[in-house]
Amino acid sequence: MGPQDQPDYVNAVAAFETKLEPLLLLDLLQTIEQEHGRLRERYWGPRTLDLDILLIDNRTIDNERLKVPHPGIELREFVVIPLAEIAPELDLPNGKSVKSLALSIPDNELRILAPAPSFT
Ligand code: AMP
Repeated sequence: MGPQDQPDYVNAVAAFETKLEPLLLLDLLQTIEQEHGRLRERYWGPRTLDLDILLIDNRTIDNERLKVPHPGIELREFVVIPLAEIAPELDLPNGKSVKSLALSIPDNELRILAPAPSFT
């Protein structure tokens, strides 16, 4: 079991380029979540897919639907550690480096199931 007695779960962080404006990207991610939600209700329990926007370039966005950087980003080992795998040299808009956050946060029971692919 994971934290707060939730069942174990899998997390991944991905980086990509898009021409979509932030709110349209959020719309798209929410559509994908809903598509999985429909399947999910039949076969598994609720909430098997949660897609969040962590960072968009060095931007800060604070509106009702979308906050970037994601407010939980610095607190969650399951976000910071995989983020550091793909972008260790990145700094958050508040100046904190992803690498230093990853080194300072306890890994709890996090286990790497699949290493980040190498793009070199
Ligand atoms: P949750 O189910 O905990 O992922 O929360 C989803 C809600 O968070 C949605 O209603 C979004 O509008 C809002 N939200 C605010 N900032 C973000 C973000 N950076 N990424 C994804 N959802 C966000």
